[in-house]
Amino acid sequence: MMTLSALVHSFRSSLLHIESRLLQAAGLEQHLAPALAVNGPILLPQVNQEDQLEEQSPEQRPGLLDSILWMAAPKKRRTIEVNRTRRRAENKLLTIKTNIEPCPECGHLKQKHVLCGFCYAKVCKETSLIRHQIQAMEGGPLRAPTVETVVLYEGETPSPQEKDKRIVELARKRPAWFSY
Ligand SMILES: [Zn+2]
Repeated sequence: MMTLSALVHSFRSSLLHIESRLLQAAGLEQHLAPALAVNGPILLPQVNQEDQLEEQSPEQRPGLLDSILWMAAPKKRRTIEVNRTRRRAENKLLTIKTNIEPCPECGHLKQKHVLCGFCYAKVCKETSLIRHQIQAMEGGPLRAPTVETVVLYEGETPSPQEKDKRIVELARKRPAWFSY
């Protein structure tokens, strides 16, 4: 209720402010009775306007429009044809890609000169399995010996020159695409 009465009071004082400015601009007398009378509810606090005028000059009184931040706004409405022409312009349409070819490894479609996403995900999954095995063997990624690493799958034995290398054994079959 207090906010409503404050709003009404602010609106009224701003109207009076505008009216006094108009009267000043027209060169008329400043202290005229208000031409627009708003009949408010009785329970709103009645403000003595003459006391207000004695306390503050019209320039110091806060107006309702002073608290509004004015921003740029369009002056004219743009028609739907103009808007659609802008939205469906040539440079905003999706371009048709002509550089698409099947992946030589898996056959999925991919862009030329771009890594195949399916093959990449496949390699990522296999690498993660190898990392898990290394984690199980050595207990962490920072304890790797400073020797070359050999990945052996099920049914594979290290060759004699691989004996002193770091051997990671996986208990699954070697994928067809993973060359030895
Ligand atoms: Zn592929």
